[in-house]
Amino acid sequence: MSLTYVEVAFPIPLNKTFHYRADEARIGCRVLAPFGPKKSLVGYVVSCMSEKPSFPTKEIVRWVDDEPFLDQTLIELARWVADRYLCSLGEALACIVPPTLEAPKRPRVTEPGSERLASPALTLTGEQKRALDPLLNAVHASTFKSFLIRGITDSGKTELYVRTIDEVIARGKQALFLLPEIALTPPFLERLRERYGSDKVGLWHSGLSGGQRFETWTAVRRGKIHVLLGARSAVFAPFPNLGLLVLDEEHEPSYKQEERPRYHTREVALKRAELSSAVLVMGSATPSLESYWKAKQGLYQLLELTSRVEQRTLPIVELIDRRGGALSPPEKGGKDEMKSRAGAVARPYKSREYFTVFSEPLKLAIEQRLARREQVMLFVNRRGFTPFLRCSKCGWVSRCDRCSTTMTIHHGDKPYMQCHACSKREPVIIQCPSCHSMRLHQYGIGTQKVEEELKKLFPFLKVARLDRDIASQRKMYEQIYTAFLKGDLDVLVGTQMIAKGFNFPKVTLVGVVDADVSLHLPDFRSAERTFDLLTQVAGRTGRGDTKGKVLVQTHHPEHYALQCAKDHDYLRFYDQEIGDRERLNYPPFCRLINIVISASKEPSAHEAAEALVEKLGALDDRLSLLGPAPAPYSRLRMKFRYQVLIKGNDQALEPCLQFLRRYRPAKSFMTVDVDPADLL
Ligand code: ADP
Ligand code: ZN
Ligand code: ZN
Repeated sequence: MSLTYVEVAFPIPLNKTFHYRADEARIGCRVLAPFGPKKSLVGYVVSCMSEKPSFPTKEIVRWVDDEPFLDQTLIELARWVADRYLCSLGEALACIVPPTLEAPKRPRVTEPGSERLASPALTLTGEQKRALDPLLNAVHASTFKSFLIRGITDSGKTELYVRTIDEVIARGKQALFLLPEIALTPPFLERLRERYGSDKVGLWHSGLSGGQRFETWTAVRRGKIHVLLGARSAVFAPFPNLGLLVLDEEHEPSYKQEERPRYHTREVALKRAELSSAVLVMGSATPSLESYWKAKQGLYQLLELTSRVEQRTLPIVELIDRRGGALSPPEKGGKDEMKSRAGAVARPYKSREYFTVFSEPLKLAIEQRLARREQVMLFVNRRGFTPFLRCSKCGWVSRCDRCSTTMTIHHGDKPYMQCHACSKREPVIIQCPSCHSMRLHQYGIGTQKVEEELKKLFPFLKVARLDRDIASQRKMYEQIYTAFLKGDLDVLVGTQMIAKGFNFPKVTLVGVVDADVSLHLPDFRSAERTFDLLTQVAGRTGRGDTKGKVLVQTHHPEHYALQCAKDHDYLRFYDQEIGDRERLNYPPFCRLINIVISASKEPSAHEAAEALVEKLGALDDRLSLLGPAPAPYSRLRMKFRYQVLIKGNDQALEPCLQFLRRYRPAKSFMTVDVDPADLL
């Protein structure tokens, strides 16, 4: 038994590797090794050497794995993630081989591989055929190539993915199918298992137990799984022979990991495809501005599907203008009303008038559907919501004149409004500067409020609510989903998480209770998010035989995001939005780094943020710096938070990243988000 030395990376935020003595040279395996005061810590062997290092070394405790989960490609991918998203190599490796991955204690009882149900082969439409050819050619060529499919909902994108996967499997290679959220997997899993046999299709997500993870990872590594379906972290699966990566709903912000390492699955997939000489296929009805722009620059090959299969029509989208009217007097027991609104809902700001949730046209449309025993979905978007002032008469919204983001209301003894991009402060006003009415409200409606109001209007209605709170309880989620599918529920109220992927044929009406919430997010992508959301939502109806309708309540019916969504016109939206991005210098015309400095004392956070800006300012004059300003969540978990936004191109950001990797702010904590998916 010869003695070797192994280089080990630990999953800790320390950008360093450590050397140990070992009995074998097994790169890519996990080891237990003594670390600091700890007797043993799981680490990843990234290299081996026979020469004794010049410093004293300890011995490893034991090997964790018999066979490596990491090959050179994955180690290289981890290095790339660590460099790009500012984490240690060990933290990046922990995404690939989670430290909790453990061999099951009991021998596994293998499920019998189910027979495939040969589903009748569809005849592709002309558009599908034209798009499929280049995909198959790329698979045959076995070199790195990336595609962006823009295909409206129901245009047959999934059919294209599946046909490409067929070809990959026929060539003895493996495919990865990525979705933005695990809640979306059931219909895809079913479709893939039917086609390839359930033992050949794996499912991966962060909710699996240590033992399940181990089994799935092992099956992927041994080539037993031909297609792996999963959310973000599946992009790191140990495929020995990866031929294809599919990234559906490419534009989804949930592809961005919001914890360290804050990687973007799309970018990792791109890098992985490159390292593995594989084909990457991204698809969406509403590609991100960045991706569509890159496709037009020739970085990805663009494939477009412009019509729905079998001449299914797109739903009619109507905008309901809520300016002016739609007010109702406070009800009896107005105090309760105030209270129930206080948490999630509009709290009138020195005003005694109240909003109704439902406009007359929406109320009427719901009534009609119920009479016909058809189903309704209602959407409420409150993601990343911060309260702001809005005039219920003319739709005026308090915005910063320097940044065009909404001014966030801060409560306390002396309420004030503040711009979270540039920190400008203003007193809270009570009169609308635009129409001089006194109808300014603090603004926002939640799912609970909508459900409540609905029950008041239609007492016999069977309604359920599906939002993130409920989705976290898997049982409940499945019950509601099944009940709605079976027709046991009349109305489903939810956030945008129910806007994707699901196919409920009996839904003939979709209502968007308030399209303006996402429009007013303090984020440069607010128009894009609104357009995406409305398009997505519209895709939920008109799937069966009956023609669907979408009613959108808004105070900004003239806004281009709403107008373009109404006309199902992605290209017009893109043209307008890309012009704005270029003019204001936002992605794809630059890259962003979002830094949040937090501390339990307000001055500490503020001073540390100021000091950081000063240091960054001296780095490279091609960088443009915004802030420090209070972060949109200016106080979170008892910490005060300041935000600094850096804009620059690759060259300018390089020294900046180098600097940030080493920088430690005084008396505070720093999080760095490279290429943020949102600025909240
Ligand atoms: P997308 O992914 O673009 O929303 P899908 O690929 O899921 O679209 O297709 C939508 C529906 O149309 C599915 O039920 C699918 O089986 C069906 N479909 C797809 N392509 C065809 C085709 N060429 N002919 C008939 N039906 C099709
Ligand atoms: Zn501002
Ligand atoms: Zn007004």
